[in-house]
Parts: sequence; C-alpha cells; structure tokens
Amino acid sequence: MEASEAKIKKQGASRLCCLCNQRRPVLKRPKTLQQICKECFYEVFEEEIHQVIVKNGLFKSGERVAIGASGGKDSTVLAYVLSELNRRHSYGLDLFLLSIDEGITGYRDDSLETVKRNELQYGLPLQILSYKDLYGWTMDDIVKMIGLKNNCTFCGVFRRQALDRGAALLKVDKLVTGHNADDIAETVLLNILRGDIARLSRCTSITTGEDGPIPRCKPFKYTYEKEIVMYAYFKKLDYFSTECIYSPNAYRGFAREFIKDLERLRPRAILDIIKSGEDFRIATTTKMPEQGTCERCGYISSQKWCKACVLLDGLNRGLPKMGIGRARGGVNGDHQKETKKPASAARSLESKQCGSLDF
Ligand code: SF4
Repeated sequence: MEASEAKIKKQGASRLCCLCNQRRPVLKRPKTLQQICKECFYEVFEEEIHQVIVKNGLFKSGERVAIGASGGKDSTVLAYVLSELNRRHSYGLDLFLLSIDEGITGYRDDSLETVKRNELQYGLPLQILSYKDLYGWTMDDIVKMIGLKNNCTFCGVFRRQALDRGAALLKVDKLVTGHNADDIAETVLLNILRGDIARLSRCTSITTGEDGPIPRCKPFKYTYEKEIVMYAYFKKLDYFSTECIYSPNAYRGFAREFIKDLERLRPRAILDIIKSGEDFRIATTTKMPEQGTCERCGYISSQKWCKACVLLDGLNRGLPKMGIGRARGGVNGDHQKETKKPASAARSLESKQCGSLDF
C-alpha cells in the first residue's frame, strides 16, 4: 500500500469511533481523550460504574438504598444510572430518592421540583426532609442572622445529619451520594491544605460511616464531572443546574479551579490525586477522634454535643458564631469533653459544603 493511500485510510478511520470503529464520534472522552460515539460513551460510562460497584462490593441483594437527590446533575445521573444498572444486572435493590430542603428560596424550592419530576420519571419513591422541620430554621433564616460567612458550615453540618435521619426514616441499609472524582480530588487537596489528617485518611474511601448509623457509598468515585455533564446532556436528563444563591465558598472554589487547570494539562491528574489520597499513611501518633453519641440528640459525635446541636444552640441563643471554628476550648468549649481533639472534628468536608456542588 502506498504511503498516501495509507494516510487517507488512516484519516478515514480516525473519523470513526475509536471503540466500535463503526459510528461517527460525537465527543472526546474527557477521561481518556478518546474520540467516541454516543452509544459507546453510554456503554463505557455505565460499565465503569458497574465495575466500581461490583469490585467494591457496594451493595448486597435485597438492600434498601437511598439516593441523596438534590435535583442537580450528579444525583440525577446517579438515580438514572443506578436504576438502569439495578434492572440490567439484577442487583436486587430497593431504591429511594431522599432530598433535603434547606429552605433556600429561589434555589432549593426550584431544584426540588426537578426531584419530584425525577420521582415520576424513574419510578422511585421520594422522601423530603426540611431543615425547618428538623431544626426550626431555614437557611434563609440562618443567612439573615449570620450573613454569607460560614453559612455553608451550618448547611453542611445540618445536611449530613438530615440525610442520616431521612435514611433512618426510610429504613434503608445504605445511602449513596453523587460525589464524583473531581469532588474527591478536591477534598483530598483541601484536607492537605488544612492539615486535616483525620479526614484525609478517609475522604477517599468509597464507603464511609460503616461504624455509624448508615453507611454511605460513592459509586461515582472514579467518574469525571465532565462525563457526568455529557451523559446528562446526551441522555436529555431532567436536572437543575443553577448554583446556590448562598454559595460563597471561595477557598473550595480555588481548589476546584486548580484541579480543573491540572485536568486540562493532564486528564489523569484527577485520578492521580485520588490515588495519592488513598496511599497516604497516617502516622500512628496522629490522634483520631473517638466516636460516641451526642448527649443532647443521640446522634453520632466525637464530642459531648454533636456539631449540629452546638450550631443550633448558638442560633437559638442568638450567638451563631458560638459553634464556628475549632472544637477545642474557645467559645464552644463548654460543650466539649475534656479530652483534646484534633481541629478536624469541627469541620465536615465529607458533607460536601457544596458551593456549586451537588450533595
Ligand atoms: Fe448550603 Fe451548598 Fe448553598 Fe452552602 S452552597 S448554603 S452548603 S446549599
């Protein structure tokens, strides 16, 4: 074959999907930069998630599983894909949607309408719990009192507990969240930047909280955010894409931008950061928080009062800053046990203080 003929053949071939070699490619896969067709993209996207579920033994047949659903892209794609895989591979799961209404007018009320449509579209029962019912405060009320600084700390702490309470109400065995690979890489980076060793050691775990009320799983641990967006777009899924109106999380935002820059230069960077997080060895001299229960509400806590109770107490006493900051001594020292705890106990990056993120 002459060189020019071979070149033409090669060009022709490059116009075909590099996986099936039959159809025209419509996208460049962000994770691998392969030019592939829509059908192959669906297949690799879903199959990779299935493999993650199987290899990590995320579910057992007969389990009841709640999907943390915000109406955003991550949780909407998770609900859709998990329903599909559950049917296709006979996982034998009872799936539910669990949503938290933080009480953010113009944001959560609209996104919850999307979840209500998803309930019908995917045939999954939906449970909604509100901050107002659980804590007596909406995020609108909280922001009125504290302004736009630290609002995500309140929201993240309250959401984490609200999800557990919703999961208990639904009597589920597990809670799955739409945390994707970008979120996890970002959390690894933030935990390093904050010297939060206790959280660093478990923020890459695909399942957490096995010693707590409800284990939480992240089936999208290795799924790139860009691919989730593409999947939702090509599948024409019904999701809500507006950012929270109280999203000031600048520090997290910088970490996110940094990871996006790295990804532009080297798509594998996201997986490499996750791998680095997984491979960190925590020194045996690092004191880890001991889990107990909150004396006030009975929720899991490494302190005398859980973080939600400390924050709530501050709000109810008109001293909202009381629960903010480090959980040793200081303004909220009266609620803490005598033992010295690492600063990490005061924060909850795992609860995905979301900014533009989904939970
Ligand atoms: Fe809550 Fe997220 Fe909004 Fe912060 S950005 S107030 S964590 S919903």
